[in-house]
Amino acid sequence: MVPSGDKFSRTGAMAWVEQELLALDREHLRRRLAIRVGAQRAVSNIGGKEMINFGSNDYLALAADPRLTQAVSQALIDGGWGSGSSPLITGHSRGHKLLEERLAEFENTEAALLFPSGFAVNSGIIAALVGPGDVVYTDRKNHASLLDGCRLSRADVRPYPHAEPDRLESLLAKSSHYRRRLIVTDSLFSMDGDTAPLVAIADLADRYGAMLMVDEAHATGVFGKNGRGVCEELMIEDRVHIRVGTLSKAMGSIGGFVVGSRQLIELLVNRARPYVFSTATPEPMVAASLAAMDIIEAEPERRTQLLDRSASLRSSLSGQGWNVGNSTSQIIPLIVGSPERAIALSTELREQGLFVPVIRPPTVPDGEACLRLSMTFGHTEDMLSKLLAALRHI
Ligand SMILES: *Cc1c(COP(=O)(O)O)cnc(C)c1O
Repeated sequence: MVPSGDKFSRTGAMAWVEQELLALDREHLRRRLAIRVGAQRAVSNIGGKEMINFGSNDYLALAADPRLTQAVSQALIDGGWGSGSSPLITGHSRGHKLLEERLAEFENTEAALLFPSGFAVNSGIIAALVGPGDVVYTDRKNHASLLDGCRLSRADVRPYPHAEPDRLESLLAKSSHYRRRLIVTDSLFSMDGDTAPLVAIADLADRYGAMLMVDEAHATGVFGKNGRGVCEELMIEDRVHIRVGTLSKAMGSIGGFVVGSRQLIELLVNRARPYVFSTATPEPMVAASLAAMDIIEAEPERRTQLLDRSASLRSSLSGQGWNVGNSTSQIIPLIVGSPERAIALSTELREQGLFVPVIRPPTVPDGEACLRLSMTFGHTEDMLSKLLAALRHI
């Protein structure tokens, strides 16, 4: 049995664990797992209560779509579940190859590569692009997986203030002596719901001869004429050398991917450690992702309606006096400052049947604790009215 109980937790080599937990409690930073029962939908049972769910990244309401679940059921019967090994041994199935080809076509690039998760892509590929003697420039609000990827690369890491291309430029101007240079940024920031100044960043990458890597995790399926993301929307796709996306958010599934030139993908197959050393995703995931891409292509109204309703919700919230930061997307923070206030607000909303998760440090900087509203295509006008009515009275 695992050592537990007073004897092991209060004394001895592991006693620090309890101290750490108590410190988290004191600062209102201790997080606890809520249990969802049943499918991920606009109304979900979370922690034993049916609530309108503003905590999901299932932006296009595809996670429980019968077209995805039926495709997965069939694939499961035909091809089994586990994939048994890493892609370079026997894990790379015909389905994975098909999905990579489809993703490359969808993203309008030469090639694509699948990873077990978006986190695995970001934490794994930066070390394949830069190393000791190189430098990587990273927006201070980039996702944790990008920051970990920067650290693991052992390149020099130069963080720049959030969405400030002038500050990025002064770092670039001062660091021409490096062998290779890489700029990495989220396209749509996951907590603030704002977008990176990508045109300015692409200009800088050109001017200083730096590689540019953009993570579209929250924008894939939502932004751009064809749903490829913010780079498509801003028409700079051909200036971004490495583009990352995830199948786990708007695509309603699981797994991450990277797209780029055929040679880049070939190099990553050989060098990206989570690709080489982690088991491939089960093949039925492919069926879900292909079905999701069919829907994204056939039903653009999902993303346009989502963005229209998000814009109108943002303006109603501002009208009520809430601070929604610089959000321009389906991710809308209600910035309240202290974790304690954020928790009180979230608890009150829960009592009224509205699930809006609290985001606190270290996910956001100190003083920026917020409630993070994620809008999905499944939220009806009526659900949004309920949210606004509840917030008006708080
Ligand atoms: C969620 C997220 C990831 C990780 O993707 P997963 O597929 O969930 O592992 C990467 N980057 C950003 C910006 C994200 O928000």
